[in-house]
Amino acid sequence: MEDLIMEARAELGLRPGRIFIGGRWMDWDGPRFDQVHPANNRVMTCFADVGERGVDQAVAAARKAFDEGPWPRMPAQDRKRIIQRFIERIYTAEELLAKLQTLDNGIPYTLSLATRVSPKAAADVFDHFAGWIDKINGETYPRFSSTSNMDYMSIREPVGVVGAILAWNAPLIMFALKVGAALACGCTVVVKPSEYANLAVMKMAEILAESELPPGVFNVISGGASTGASLSSHRGVDKISFTGSATTGERILAASGTNMKRLSLELGGKSAAIVFPDVHSIASTANSLMGLCSSFLSGQVCSTPTRALVHRSVFDEFVHHAVLQAQSVKLGDPFDPTTTSAPIISKGQLNRILGYVESGKREGARLVCGGRQPGGTLANGNWMEPALFVDVKREISIFREEIFGPVLCAIPFDREEEAVRMANDSEYGLAGCIYTTDVRRAFRVARAVRSGSIGINGYASVPNAPMGGVKRSGIGREGGWSSIEAFTELKTIDFNMDV
Ligand code: NAD
Repeated sequence: MEDLIMEARAELGLRPGRIFIGGRWMDWDGPRFDQVHPANNRVMTCFADVGERGVDQAVAAARKAFDEGPWPRMPAQDRKRIIQRFIERIYTAEELLAKLQTLDNGIPYTLSLATRVSPKAAADVFDHFAGWIDKINGETYPRFSSTSNMDYMSIREPVGVVGAILAWNAPLIMFALKVGAALACGCTVVVKPSEYANLAVMKMAEILAESELPPGVFNVISGGASTGASLSSHRGVDKISFTGSATTGERILAASGTNMKRLSLELGGKSAAIVFPDVHSIASTANSLMGLCSSFLSGQVCSTPTRALVHRSVFDEFVHHAVLQAQSVKLGDPFDPTTTSAPIISKGQLNRILGYVESGKREGARLVCGGRQPGGTLANGNWMEPALFVDVKREISIFREEIFGPVLCAIPFDREEEAVRMANDSEYGLAGCIYTTDVRRAFRVARAVRSGSIGINGYASVPNAPMGGVKRSGIGREGGWSSIEAFTELKTIDFNMDV
């Protein structure tokens, strides 16, 4: 089982990770940590744990590049050409980046190469933001009164030095969403990938380092929670763009108050899918909802609906098809093209999920399938068979808490209002789905559910539409013009035309 992973590791000749500060790659003279592969728990390589000292160096370089360098002041066309050349290089390195992403988080290679988390998708995100560069405009305002001799206009200026802190599940896309928007707006950046997924981000950084960016505009460091904490409390950083758990988001919110940092917090969710009986096909809806929890990243995706609220008249049929789907997944070497699903990112997270399975059973829910660790060749990795629960009461933890793994709860409802109440009975509000062929109902329910986004008969985020959460799912939006707003400050200039 491990052979293909270790073969890819050998083929790519992974070396201990370096950091990139002020336009120079450097080896770190301090502590390091190992990155292990979640499918077999074998060490891939090690990375610098830079802590406060490395953060200070990286922020100083980004600060200097912002305060004194050409990037924030560069004409739009010149900035755009640099990003466009970088995008071309991503395409050239597509397969390598996809392999590294698979060596990071165990996503099956075929999916790493060809889905919405692929290198091409990341290049598309950069391409989208490159398109904004010469369109980041302000406004002019009509003279307010006859007694005033002042005219007014607003301009958008880059927000400053950005600290970008990434989660591990879609490292290339997260990198692109944050770095693409920051560079397009003329900011300088310090990126910290997740301690579980450094490889693909470091390769992206290498490609970006080869472009004509002035030194200090882009910096990448590595490390764990304390490095992230140093970045989010650093007074030289003007904005933090963070993707990760709500608990970490709350810590960053508190730490970033030191100098009133601007914040984008893309956090967790406990999204609901509401399935009405007039849906075009119960089988394909069940397939798709259980599939989101069991295939691809095995439910380790923030927007995945993990509560399926299903009309009682079609509930049994839904459960029947969801079980068939869960039992059809193929766990295994992520470089084997028949593998459908990723392992759980760490032993700690696997134990946490198995703990939820136990607590679900203890609190009265019925486990219909899965929830176990497979043995045999998979025993060395962090694998789990996808689980489906029914008879789930609203008070229990598997209904309420983000599990971030292959666990779906199916709950029947009788009336539309009851389904909406259950969907909203959550401290989170990231995403959600409605399955129906009744257009009026779809729109009514989409408006009634409190979430940052919601899909009708499907769900997929795109770079040109806003994505983010309400309630405990975050602050702000990323994607499209919302990113431009989030990475710029609006300045009003008033001028006296009479002198
Ligand atoms: P995490 O919060 O454990 O870690 C995320 C990042 O924060 C890592 O780089 C980590 O080193 C860093 N970090 C940890 N403690 C920190 C601190 N005190 N200060 C600053 N940085 C710190 O999350 P994770 O396990 O990597 O990712 C899973 C979570 O991310 C889930 O909750 C998931 O829903 C969420 N997520 C959200 C989105 C979204 O767009 N809303 C997308 C992907 C993942």
